[in-house]
Amino acid sequence: MADDLLVTRRHALLSGACACLCSVRAFAQRDESGARVFATEEVASGIHVRRGVDEDATARNEDGIANIGFIVGHDAVAVIDPGGSLIDGQRLRAAIRQVTQLPIRYVVMSHVHPDHIFGAPAFQQDHPQFVGHARLPRALALRGEYYRKRLEETLGKDRAGSVVTPTLLVQDHTEIDLGGRVLALKAHGIAHTDCDLSVLDRNTGTLLPADLLFVRRAPSLDGSLKGWLQELAMLKAVPARLAVPGHGPTSVNWPSGARDLERYLSTVLRETKEAVTKGTDLDAAVKTVAQGERSRWALFDDYNGHNVTQAFKELEWDQ
Ligand SMILES: [Zn+2]
Repeated sequence: MADDLLVTRRHALLSGACACLCSVRAFAQRDESGARVFATEEVASGIHVRRGVDEDATARNEDGIANIGFIVGHDAVAVIDPGGSLIDGQRLRAAIRQVTQLPIRYVVMSHVHPDHIFGAPAFQQDHPQFVGHARLPRALALRGEYYRKRLEETLGKDRAGSVVTPTLLVQDHTEIDLGGRVLALKAHGIAHTDCDLSVLDRNTGTLLPADLLFVRRAPSLDGSLKGWLQELAMLKAVPARLAVPGHGPTSVNWPSGARDLERYLSTVLRETKEAVTKGTDLDAAVKTVAQGERSRWALFDDYNGHNVTQAFKELEWDQ
């Protein structure tokens, strides 16, 4: 596998995300045929992000579908989401070693979904703290084996990875120090899932909310619609100028980058409420709610129906 370092200059119109003309350090790993299999870019000083593809997990994409990355301090490295499979995690680890030989002391697991955390075993050799929301162990106990089996069916036993139990739990908030760089971790209320953790790098004003932020790729609701809107409102007040979405571009301006997600979630809330009030049945609601959003999101048809179903169940109880 050949490694290369690319220094590129990009503009807002090209990236669609970065607001200024800026230099971006990008690193890539290539396979024997020269095809690029893993690439990260430095979205802010010392913050490197791999953009996940807008697909569901397949053998071909190795479940590399989430935005994952790492932050480098003076003394240590924190991984922020170890990847969607063992192989994805191994590639991320190789990407870190292209940039720095500092110890990998923390592996933050933002929530229970497999595309974010099944790469964790690739980092066990580093003996880091595996950091998660206080509710993550329970979520892993309920779903981890199911996710592992499903991923093994898709990727094969050797490439899928396994459940790693967090060793450092966040009840409300905590800080981790990478040397000259303190990351603030926040355990959120029920939102995208019931175990969402976000990270703020104060040095660069960069927020890493993982799947509390989807941009241009249809969100998936697996927690609480009303809760997600609340947490998003709180995150918008965080003093950050940039955010790294869990899915979508590697970075967006903050808080303006929350606008589309907020509009989508508010639309689902409003139109599902109307459907419930009118006595529309679930099947009809799934076909109509938030259809005005359809052209704005990749994978819309794969996720919107599920989101409406979740919202419907949540809002039925309000009647
Ligand atoms: Zn997720």
